[in-house]
Amino acid sequence: MSELFHECGVAAIYHLPSDQPSSLLPLPDPCQATRLMPRMLQDMQNRGQLSAGMSRFHPRPENGQVIDTFRDLGSVQEVFRLSHSGKAESLMQDYAGSAAIGHVRYATCGKNDRSYAQPFENHHFHKRLWFSFAFNGQLANYQQLAGELLADGQHHLVRRTDTEVLLHEISRVLQANPEIPLEELMRSISRRLDGAYSIALINANGEMLLARDPQGIKPLCYAVQGPLFAAASESVALVNLGFHRNEIESLAPGHAIVIRDGKIKISQYAEQPSRAHCFFEWIYFANVASSLDNRSVYLARTALGKELAQLEREDPLLEIDANTIVVPVPDTSKAAADSMAYNLGVPSFEGLIRNRYSGRTFIESSQTTRAEKARAKYTPLREILEDKKVILVEDSIVRSTTMKALLERIRVEGGAKEIHVRVACPPIIAPCFYGIDMSSVQQLFAPKFLGNQTELTPEIQRRMATELQADSLRYLPVEAIARSIGYASSDLCQACISGKYPTPAGERLYQLDLAAARNGQSGNFDGRAYEIADDTGVRG
Ligand code: SF4
Repeated sequence: MSELFHECGVAAIYHLPSDQPSSLLPLPDPCQATRLMPRMLQDMQNRGQLSAGMSRFHPRPENGQVIDTFRDLGSVQEVFRLSHSGKAESLMQDYAGSAAIGHVRYATCGKNDRSYAQPFENHHFHKRLWFSFAFNGQLANYQQLAGELLADGQHHLVRRTDTEVLLHEISRVLQANPEIPLEELMRSISRRLDGAYSIALINANGEMLLARDPQGIKPLCYAVQGPLFAAASESVALVNLGFHRNEIESLAPGHAIVIRDGKIKISQYAEQPSRAHCFFEWIYFANVASSLDNRSVYLARTALGKELAQLEREDPLLEIDANTIVVPVPDTSKAAADSMAYNLGVPSFEGLIRNRYSGRTFIESSQTTRAEKARAKYTPLREILEDKKVILVEDSIVRSTTMKALLERIRVEGGAKEIHVRVACPPIIAPCFYGIDMSSVQQLFAPKFLGNQTELTPEIQRRMATELQADSLRYLPVEAIARSIGYASSDLCQACISGKYPTPAGERLYQLDLAAARNGQSGNFDGRAYEIADDTGVRG
């Protein structure tokens, strides 16, 4: 599914003082630990392709910059010049260090300019006020925080992003108390934050902080092997560094890791943390090789496919015969499609080929329609599809433009006889205010058909199928999500499929968005409810 984009991934690496350098380092020198950062970021490229960067810490740098930040627009390969060994090596020498934080970013709004790339560094002559940080998530109470910040007339926001608001929040607490321990800093700022976040911070004293929001909406995991510590939004980044699977842990919601004086300390910073993990991480966003909060992404997706197969057996919407094939929409639907096919005894074929090299261009975001992007991204294989009854498995339908364009191509260019769409997710009925590119309710496909009712009847699904020009359509029920992931629904954020938000600011924004929809407000904003509330609204 190419309609959704994540907003960022964070990573951190720290070589603790030791007589023996870690065997996971590419060179036997603790001050070369930062060489691992591009690799970690590349493993999380799925979480953002617009920009990448890192801030290193070096206790005795040649250029005097204890913290030094390198960031730019582009994929990890482009930013770190990985296809040019001389340039990549020169960068790694310039940014050598024993610790680093890193970031990949995708922006749904805000500018595509370099100044939005993270980490954000706050240069200062006081070593505890000289810090750099990276942020994955979104503050749902951005408006309130930005308003309070600007109210005294003494502050200014350069960028339209909640990352900059967070920078101010951190600086405000540190200026009031430069010696505050980092876990206390986190406790202090978290009281004012409403939203989803994972944060990585390093200061010029060589202290590192990693924190996960009180409900664990965003993922964050870490691993320690000998003197080497690493953390990342996704476990795949740690596995591929060489950490054993049993060394990798998820950071509990509302907890922080602080590295100080060569020691790692984990503590709870938020009162009464409860869980609300974003279910979409398992469905679509996360790398299929990752495990999040001890649940494998791959296994969750195969369980979703099994649920789809079971529904098909209980209530067939098509006659399955020798001419029937299952086709995944690549790549994220493949595990669900293969599992559905296996459980139905139907072959699964790659009837749609994803063009991996069509690439992301900066022109795309401003001038290319989603339908055009879908056309550039997939090629239907006539050899597979011609005269077939195709069960097309997709992981979700958000706006439907991608799906409509795909169905047309499968029918016209692929020559499919019938197309039956099966969605390994319930209908998306509400926006996301926690860092996912999910537009306002007016731009979503399903609410137009559901209206005020919550029950997805066969008649509604028939009308949806007609709109998409599919022969039939079926979604999964909401209950299938918790079953497939293996968490109780009360431990998951399912706001975009239930309309029930896990935080007060999220709920408030939803009500604003619904009111705007009722008033027919839409038009010249990109579907952001907080931009309805106040046109200074911004996210990063
Ligand atoms: S609203 Fe949906 S996409 Fe956003 S955090 Fe919650 S489950 Fe994830």
